[in-house]
Formats: sequence, structure tokens, C-alpha cells
Amino acid sequence: KQRDPDQPEFHQAAGEILHSIAPFLEKCPEYSRNGLLERILEPERIIQFRVAWVDDAGEVQVNRGYRIQMNSAIGPYKGGLRFHPTVNLGILKFLAFEQVFKNALTTLPLGGGKGGSDFNPKGKSDLEVMRFCQAFMSELYRHIGADVDVPAGDIGVGGREIGYLYGMYRKLKNEVTGAMTGKGLSYGGSLIRPEATGYGLVYFVEEMLKTRSKALAGCRVAISGSGNVAQYAAAKVMELDGLVVTLSDSSGTVHNPDGFTQEQWEYLMALKNQRRGRISELAEAFGLAYETDARPWQFPCDIALPCATQNELDADDAETLLGNGCFCVAEGANMPSTLAAVDRFQAAGILFAPGKASNAGGVAVSGLEMAQNSMRHLWTEGEVDAKLHDIMIAIHHACQRHGQKGDSVDYVAGANIAAFIKIADAMQSQGVV
Ligand code: NDP
Repeated sequence: KQRDPDQPEFHQAAGEILHSIAPFLEKCPEYSRNGLLERILEPERIIQFRVAWVDDAGEVQVNRGYRIQMNSAIGPYKGGLRFHPTVNLGILKFLAFEQVFKNALTTLPLGGGKGGSDFNPKGKSDLEVMRFCQAFMSELYRHIGADVDVPAGDIGVGGREIGYLYGMYRKLKNEVTGAMTGKGLSYGGSLIRPEATGYGLVYFVEEMLKTRSKALAGCRVAISGSGNVAQYAAAKVMELDGLVVTLSDSSGTVHNPDGFTQEQWEYLMALKNQRRGRISELAEAFGLAYETDARPWQFPCDIALPCATQNELDADDAETLLGNGCFCVAEGANMPSTLAAVDRFQAAGILFAPGKASNAGGVAVSGLEMAQNSMRHLWTEGEVDAKLHDIMIAIHHACQRHGQKGDSVDYVAGANIAAFIKIADAMQSQGVV
């Protein structure tokens, strides 16, 4: 905190992990030797750069670009790029730090990183987005590569942006390799990658529910956000006969107590991915309830899946959810629940999964995309989906193995300890570097 006083999100993420591994370190003090914790907390490398581009009016715009290469003990740096006006070094450091632990849980050989820019794609033309992506990559390309650092998408970086970024990378490097994931199917992408985070989240929830002899069918599920993660979490919940009762964006929340229909979901997909419109239009098109500035957590539900952004669910929201009988919360976004909210869920004894475990499906399938690129091969939808499902079950087992407390599972402790052991073992074996 003294070294980087202006990075509250990083302190929050680091504090959560250090707190939950403390009992393990007491039992196994060899894991706190050799400056291991200090090294894990310090990024291996931070790259910050100017991104100058020309808008449609011919004006020069200047944004700031970043890549945090956090830890490569287990494999190449891997993690998304976020384009959002709130992006700063502290937020990217928190995301990169979480990513290291998440990637360790996937069972795949992936290190952790994160990057992005304070560029806001909202309201920009396609050509402006393309020029920005090209300018961004004209610096980033020096620092990444299939065996070095493999970026993917995140908030504000979807299929369109990955295409523009990868196109520039390929041109500058004059090579066709898996240096980015989330690519389109026609140029090296993997089947199931767009679906992976949302599907994986719901596979994880199924495993959580089994520990209480419950199933998803018939459950009311409140989802926040309406972007990539929210869209496919909703699709999988609906496929498994759950009722998705809310969706949202940064302007407001749509509520459908009967559960969104397939037709409404298809409308959402076109609205958000093609027309880039607001969620209020879904409400208008189907006569559904819409509240500006409302959060999904105020509406009755059995399961809550926060899938929008960090710290979107606070202690008051947690109390409201508990008061309404919600018995399971699984994070689709990264760190959407504040520490106080997590405390409430854990004190109430409901099922709670942190994002680094429950949303790891996206990076897992990115890892599978890298494997397919290396082999110059494409697995079928069924093959990738089955591997994703197996990985989510394996992550759930790891959480149980290290987080079982009596007849319930502390998923926060379980995920953090399982990941920490893997990272620490890799770092200790490789000496002080
Ligand atoms: P998208 O950009 O596709 O969607 C983000 C959604 O969250 C949009 O509905 C957006 O609304 C909403 N949102 C963003 N910021 C805010 C805010 N400050 N307040 C309220 N709503 C907000 O991103 P993704 O779906 O890819 O990512 C969502 C979360 O999941 C992030 O935390 C990301 O880090 C995490 N994640 C994503 C993975 C992936 O594979 N994509 C993998 C693992 C985690 P609006 O359009 O109004 O801004």
C-alpha cells in the first residue's frame, strides 16, 4: 500500500488472497520463504505506452495503453485487454493478479497478464475503432507472441476489436501464430470461445448446487450485465430450464419474473453485438419492466450471477439478496462483489464462488485455442465443450480439496490455496528469478 497508494482495487484483490491463504502459510511455513509472497505481488513487467490515432473528424486523439505481464512461472502471460474509460494501472494490476491465480486453476500451462486502454469504444464508428486498435497494436506487438504473452478480449474488446488487433499484429510481425485468442473462426479461433465464460460459469454452478442436492431447473437466476459473459450464462441457464429474471447494462436493469424467452435472448444478441444498443430497447420491444440505475439484486431470485464489472454488488445488495432467499452467488465478472458483500454471503452460509474459479472457463478455452493453433488443428464444438466442462469440474474439485469445511465448501479459500500452491511450487522450483 505504501509503494502504490493509489491502487485500491489491487489492494482489495491482494488483501483477499493473502487473508485466505494465511492459515495455510501457518501450517506450511516453507511457502513464505524466499520472498515468494513479495515476488507474487510484484508484476514481472509493466508496459505503458502512448496510443495516438485520428478520429473521423480528422482530430488527433491520445489514449494510454498498458500491458501488465504479471507472472510467467507456469506458462506464457495470458489475459484479456480491456477498453473502458475507467481503465488505469491499479485496475489492470488487480485484474492481472487475479488472472495469475485463475489461470493456475485451469489445469493448463498459462501464466497471467492483463492490459488495455482508457479508450471508450462506445459511440465510436467502426473505422475509429479500427484505427485505434491498429495504433494500440503498433506498440503492443513488440511485447507479445504465441510463446511469450497471448492477449484476449475483456470489457469493450470483443470479436470486432480482436479482429482489428490481430490483423495489425500479423502484418507487423509477418507471421500467422496464435498470439491472440478470441479470434474469429475463419482465422484461427476456437469453437465455443465466445460461449466459454458464460457456459463455464453455469457448469460450475451446477457442481455447487450438487453439493446441496439441488439442480438449476426451475431456479430464478438474476444476471447483471448483457455483454459476452452475461449473454452466454443466460443461454446456458435457459437451456438447463432455469429462469433468467434480470439482465442489465450500465444504464439500467430489465426484469422479467417469468424468465426471458428464446426470442428475447436472440433479440438481445442482435441488440448488443450488432446494433450496439441499450438494454432498455429489449424492455421496450417486449413490454418488460425496466428501471434506470437499478441493480438486478433488488429483484427476487434463487441464484445471482454478477457478470458486469468489479464491485457492482455491495453489502447492501448482499443483504437484499439474502433477504429474498438467494442461496447461491457465482461470479461471472472479475471481483464483482465487494469484500463486505463476500463476508455477508459467507456468514449466511450460502454457496459463494469467486470469479477466479467460476469464470475461468473463458481463459481455459483460450488455452485450448492456443493448443489448436499450435497443432494447426480445429476441435469440434462437442470436443471443446466437453473439455471446458471437464475443466470446470476439475476446478470445483480443487476448491473442494482445499476449501472443505465440515459439510460445506469455502470456495474463496479453496480456489486461492489451490492456485497459490501451484504458482508457488513453480516459482520455488525455478529459483529466485
Ligand atoms: P462486455 O464488454 O461484453 O460486457 C460488459 C457488460 O457489463 C455490459 O453489459 C456493460 O454495460 C456492463 N458494464 C460494464 N461496466 C459497467 C459498470 N461500470 N457499471 C455497470 N455495468 C457495467 O464484457 P464481458 O462480458 O467480456 O466482461 C464482463 C466481466 O466478466 C468483466 O468483469 C470481465 O473482466 C469478466 N470476464 C470476462 C471474460 C470473457 O471471456 N469475456 C472472462 C472472465 C471474466 P455497458 O454496455 O452499458 O457498458
